[in-house]
Amino acid sequence: MNLHEYQGKEILNSFGVRIQRGIVAQNANEAVAAAKQLTNETGTSWHVIKAQVHAGGRGKGGGVKLAKNLQEVEEIAGQIIGMNLITPQTSAEGKKVHQVLVAEDVYYPGESETDEFYVSVLLNRSTGRNMIMYSTEGGMDIETVAEETPELIFTEEIDPTVGLLPFQARRVAFNLGLSGLAFKEMTKFVTALYTAYVKSDSSLFEINPVLKTSDNKIMAVDAKVTIDDNALYRHKNYIDLRDVREESAIEVEAGELGLNYVDLDGNVGCMVNGAGLAMATMDLIKQAGGEPANFLDVGGTADAARVEAAFKIILKDPAVKAILINIFGGIVRCDRVAQGVIDAYKNMGTINVPIIVRLQGTNADIAKDLIDNSGLDVMSATEFQEAADKVQQVLA
Ligand code: GDP
Ligand code: MN
Repeated sequence: MNLHEYQGKEILNSFGVRIQRGIVAQNANEAVAAAKQLTNETGTSWHVIKAQVHAGGRGKGGGVKLAKNLQEVEEIAGQIIGMNLITPQTSAEGKKVHQVLVAEDVYYPGESETDEFYVSVLLNRSTGRNMIMYSTEGGMDIETVAEETPELIFTEEIDPTVGLLPFQARRVAFNLGLSGLAFKEMTKFVTALYTAYVKSDSSLFEINPVLKTSDNKIMAVDAKVTIDDNALYRHKNYIDLRDVREESAIEVEAGELGLNYVDLDGNVGCMVNGAGLAMATMDLIKQAGGEPANFLDVGGTADAARVEAAFKIILKDPAVKAILINIFGGIVRCDRVAQGVIDAYKNMGTINVPIIVRLQGTNADIAKDLIDNSGLDVMSATEFQEAADKVQQVLA
């Protein structure tokens, strides 16, 4: 589950990680009230107005702006709320902005220069350990840094039995070129950040930039936080942080129907039981010259109701030019699935794309007869390759 910046920062703050303070606002009036409150609490009269959408690169798209007085807060918040924000990480249509974070300006001048760093915490899948990845090149795309100056990216792997050790936190501060107060602040920051990552059951923390202020404080200016869905049962207070407006509408609907669905860019819709078979089916479609339009696992009980729900979900995607149903009848009987497909088809009336059904396993022969004698415009197949050939045929 991905979070908004303001939500991620609240979680960081609850574990003692210093953050740039801010208040979320739904409209320009709320933004002005938020700015006044921040001025009372922090003394700053400058504020940054930050679009809250699930996408990075907001600054580049005009979604992060500095306001030097209340009138500018009102104007900028009014501009950003409701805008379609296009960033390097959104689609070409962009993302609608529903709310902004009004934050204290933390780039104020002082005894030293401000400096921006990159710090993330994530799982290194090849070693099975969490790691802190960090760089002196903050505020930039980390992918670009990795490509152009990989030597400026450092990692610190953490042994899960002992956690982050003090010398490792000091090494982070050292490699970032810090000294004095800023060095101490960074070791504290990294230690609290790692604790927050573990205790919140997150799968990604990406803090870019981490700022060294002109008075040598270290704080999170941005926060990309992903919570592990499978651990949400341990964090009931995080469940409400989900913002379905930020997720794909088809995926949300499929989730409500209990279908395991992931939207993809291709032209062949897939309906499969079992995640492994779904992956293999997607490979098959690619080999046949098509591109999968989705990943869809209907699960063990592929009855008429689920098949119909799955059809409806797949057909919401206008790019779908054919549907391949690939079901293995291990626990479920193929003839039941075939009847489900036929019933669903009849219930739906017309389906304007060719359908190829491959049923294999218990009662596959009966299932094939049912499909072939249904009088519906559905092609049957028994073998994997045969199904692929038919997909190729209908796409040609
Ligand atoms: P992103 O573009 O989506 O990654 O959003 P960020 O939260 O990282 O903000 C983008 C940029 O805005 C940062 O890299 C900063 O340079 C700038 N920024 C953020 N907060 C402040 C602030 O308090 N004052 C000033 N002057 N700039 C800020
Ligand atoms: Mn950022």
